[in-house]
This record gives sequence, structure tokens and C-alpha cells, in this order.
Amino acid sequence: MTTTQATDTIRSVPTMTTAEHTKIVDKFGAHNYGPLPVVIKKGEGCWVEDVEGRRYLDMLGGYSALNFGHCHPYITQVFIEQAQKLTLTARAFQNDQFGLFCKEITEFCGFDKVLPMNSGAEAVETAVKTARKWAYKVKGVPEDKAEIIVCDHNFHGRTTTVISFSSSTQARDGFGPFTPGFKSIPYADTDALEKAITPNTAAFLVEPIQGEGGIQVPPDGYLRKCLEICKANNVLLIDDEIQAGFGRPGKKFAIDFDGVHPDMMILGKALGGGTMPVSAVLGSDEIMGVFKPGDHGSTFGGNPLACAVARAAIKVLQDEHLIERSAELGPAFMQRIMALNSPAIKEVRGRGLWIGIEIDPKAGSAHDYVLKLLDEGILTKETLESVLRLAPPLIITQEEIDWAMERIAKVFAP
Ligand SMILES: *Cc1c(COP(=O)(O)O)cnc(C)c1O
Repeated sequence: MTTTQATDTIRSVPTMTTAEHTKIVDKFGAHNYGPLPVVIKKGEGCWVEDVEGRRYLDMLGGYSALNFGHCHPYITQVFIEQAQKLTLTARAFQNDQFGLFCKEITEFCGFDKVLPMNSGAEAVETAVKTARKWAYKVKGVPEDKAEIIVCDHNFHGRTTTVISFSSSTQARDGFGPFTPGFKSIPYADTDALEKAITPNTAAFLVEPIQGEGGIQVPPDGYLRKCLEICKANNVLLIDDEIQAGFGRPGKKFAIDFDGVHPDMMILGKALGGGTMPVSAVLGSDEIMGVFKPGDHGSTFGGNPLACAVARAAIKVLQDEHLIERSAELGPAFMQRIMALNSPAIKEVRGRGLWIGIEIDPKAGSAHDYVLKLLDEGILTKETLESVLRLAPPLIITQEEIDWAMERIAKVFAP
């Protein structure tokens, strides 16, 4: 048997310019993204460096997957040590990180049981399957009649079933036929929820704050009222906290602002500590109890490397008081952006260190401002045409926010 000799180009990427990288990406990579012209080669904390040696403050934070910043020292240490011990067994066997992960995440989130997956979309699919099975086996919905209610302008991922209930034309165009069994209602509208429920409704799947939908924060009490309606009708409320939760909004989870506990919760993004995909579906014994061996699974779900980094992520979130940091730094940051009184800004909204800046179309598109901020050394990304999104790592310091604020002020100066 021959052993692989690690080539220098894997362990040490050759020196190439942004243009050279872009050229090979264009040629050999599918064009399903249109990234900004920045090729990042390393990251540390809130900062990244590109192949030309330019430094940027990362205020996108991997769409909330980098709540701990880049290469967090403790998470990286856990990752390396576990990678050298055991990375994958598949669930045919047990591994010594899995049980502890299950115990710690369920305690942290306040649920009986967890089902681990990898990407966010897979966890959403898992939640959909769980709710359907619960509807048939527990609630007594007739076979193949289960309905799930979702919200207009939702974002729950990119799989065929998940895009079946997207309201984005582009997300669906050319990808049909679609999975039936979903009904979409306006966001933040409890009357619409009440009206949409039928005896066959299994669940209401909702983002506690719509992220891709433009950082839309629902009115206080919206989720509390939704939960009441769901309870009264024996419908499960599935809370997709993949982007909104895990400290981002200045509480553990965005639904905590209403002081209620959903029937099921979906986590992803930051749960992987910024190192690898880790997602999870959480629920009660009754709901998660619908699964028997063989019903559902994932080769990589619950792998020891993922379990170790997720455990590290939960620990760092608490040990470094990142939830409190988000609650403290976020609102003051948002206030300062509002105080710019820029004619280009129509509205500033968000929770914690998660801020959406609605750009007045007369002043240009959000993408124009993304490019202006890029020139100033700040990485951001628009969502929709008109919303600039800021979601910096929760480890960001006041000094770094001050640094960003100077540049944001410059870009938005009339
Ligand atoms: C990102 C996201 C997903 C999908 O996660 P992937 O890991 O990209 O599949 C699902 N729901 C919400 C709310 C998200 O923000």
C-alpha cells in the first residue's frame, strides 16, 4: 500500500493574487454564489487577512456561524485534539463525545432530547419529518394529510423540500416539482396563523427573527401568542434559531424575549463553533420519541469531532459571557448608527449584535454600501436588495466597534 505524500500546495497554498484565485473559481466552481472580490487566507478573532495582505474587520460573522470569531483559541484546541483522537464512527457505534453532547445541549436549551445533524437545512428537514410523524402517530392526522404552516419571506435552507415553501422566486425557479403539505402566511400575523390551522395541521415553523427576510423583528409577544394558538390547537411550534439564536440576539435564543419555550427548536450555524457544520433538533420526550432505530439518520450526524466542537461552543458562549456582551454592545451600536441620521438610512433594526440597516433606494442598493464598506476594510453582506446586515462575532470589543463606527459614519455621510 502506498501512503499519500502531502503536497506543499495543500498544506501551504501557493502565492496567488485575488484575480488568479477568482479565475480558477470561475472556471472550476459552479456559479451558485456571487462573492465579493476578497480572497481570505486567514482569520483571527474578528479580523481576516486576504491573499494580498489586506486586513478586514468581519462584520458578517459567517451569517452568524462565527459568533466566536475566527479560529477561537479554545475551540480550535478542542478541534485539533479531537481530530487527532477520533473523528468519525458513524452512528452504528457509539463514541465517547456523543452522550455528553446530548446531555449538555439539552440542558443548555431546556429540552428532553436532541437529534444531531450537520447543516441547518438538514436539521429543518429533520424537524419537518419529526412533526409529520408526530402528527400521524400521536395527534392522529390521517395518512399523508399533515400540513405545516410557514411564514412568507422565510428562509430555512436550500433542499428541495425546504425551497418548496420558500417565497423567493429565485430560490424555487427551475427546481420543481415541489413537496406538498405546506401553507404560507404573513409573518408577525397571529390572526393569519389562527385562520390557517386545520385539524390536519402538524406544526408552525417560524424564525423568531427573520434573518434573510431582512432582519425583521416581530412585535413583542408575537411568539408567545403563536405558542398559545398552537397549544390550543394541538399544533407544534418549531422555532428555527439557526441564525437568530445561540447568543446572537443578546439572549440565549430569540424566542426568550417572549419568555416562552417552543415545542421544538432547531440550531445550526454557531453551534459548530465556526469550525464545521453542526446542527440539531431539540424537543420533548413525547415528540422526539416518534423515532425508532432506522427511521432517520445521518452518517456524519453526531460525529465525535462535531460533538466536541459543539460542546466547546456551548462552554465558550457561557464562560466568555457572550450573550451578555451581545446584549450590552448591540443596542448601543445600533443607537450610534441611528444617530448618524443619514438620509441614506430608512430604518435600523435588530436585536443584540444583529443589525439590519434599511437603505433608502434613492441612495442606492444595499450592495453599493457593502462595496463602500469593503473599501474601508469592513466585510458585510446585504440581504434582499435594500438591507445591509451586520452580524459581527460576539467577541467583538468596544474598540473594534468604535473603529467600525468611524468608517460606517464616513460611508453614510451625506
Ligand atoms: C442559514 C439558515 C438555515 C440553513 O442552514 P444551512 O447550514 O445553510 O443549511 C436555516 N434556517 C435559518 C434561519 C438560517 O439562517
